[in-house]
Amino acid sequence: MADKILKKAGLGALIESVTGKGGRFVAPTTDSRQVVFKKVKSAEEVATDYILARNSFKEFLFPQTEVVAEFTMSKDSVDMKGVEVYAPQTVVFGARPCEAASLAGMRALFTWDFIDEFYTKREENTVVVTVACTKGDDACFCTTVNLSPESTEGTDVYLREAADSYIVQAVTEKGKKFVETHAAVFSEGNAKAEPLFMPEKIANIDIAKVSARLKDKTHYDDKVWARLTSKCIGCGACTFVCPTCRCFDIVDEGTAFEGERRKNWDSCQYDTFTLHASGHNPREHQHQRWRNRFMCKFHFYPEKFSSKGCVGCGRCIRVCPVRLDITEVMEEFSK
Ligand code: SF4
Ligand code: SF4
Repeated sequence: MADKILKKAGLGALIESVTGKGGRFVAPTTDSRQVVFKKVKSAEEVATDYILARNSFKEFLFPQTEVVAEFTMSKDSVDMKGVEVYAPQTVVFGARPCEAASLAGMRALFTWDFIDEFYTKREENTVVVTVACTKGDDACFCTTVNLSPESTEGTDVYLREAADSYIVQAVTEKGKKFVETHAAVFSEGNAKAEPLFMPEKIANIDIAKVSARLKDKTHYDDKVWARLTSKCIGCGACTFVCPTCRCFDIVDEGTAFEGERRKNWDSCQYDTFTLHASGHNPREHQHQRWRNRFMCKFHFYPEKFSSKGCVGCGRCIRVCPVRLDITEVMEEFSK
């Protein structure tokens, strides 16, 4: 049976087809020698030779900052009004299978005790087109967290690279509809897929053991945390690039009479994250903040939402200025 094919030379036509219908097309682009996800208008802007974009595509579903309400105040009243959710039809092209797998956890949080329409509407209007990895680096560890370049969790359309084309597999109904809507740019044919880059599973890590150890709270005051993570400077970079980190803060900005309520990314790595108005901070030391992040990934989210808190993309390892490697902590907690 013939495969569904997208010619690499046809990527521009796909972008035109999406943007011509009013959608936004997000793809990895090369910017100051880094590859980052950005909104693009042409195929020339799209990076093809990359391992993983430096940022996660989460910022197109959960922006770094956004207005969620507006308010006016007078002596006698406060008026609050909602704002329209910005949720354009969006295609995220060139995501990797690991990061697509983060969407289940994002959705679980944003639909947990309250339906966050800002996130859910944008996610519903987004088609995730992953391109399976043909290259990787030492920071990739998806196979250690039970994913792989063949995983299709969170993916709507899965692409395998071939010489001058992509072999197309529509995974979800949304993905099938996307391929039908832009049928003119796809063709039937046969192509030979390039081999995938399969990161070697880290032998000393056992995710089940990590989770089990974290469940037993006796580790809380273990000196191991300070030993492994005291070099952390609390910059928060790891949380901002992580596809599964989704902490935010709500702040009011404006004057005494009018303003807007904003939802901003926050980071559990900041010393002010848990600082109480009284001055008390239950996570006074950096290693306690790092412990929280690790517990979020391997205990809180798997237990509360049955979802992965870490998809093994390795972004946090690549961006960390002090090279704090989460897999070293995973190894320690697998003993
Ligand atoms: S914790 Fe690190 S490796 Fe895991 S998903 Fe986040 S950025 Fe990727
Ligand atoms: S990127 Fe590194 S130094 Fe910065 S908060 Fe994360 S672990 Fe700490």
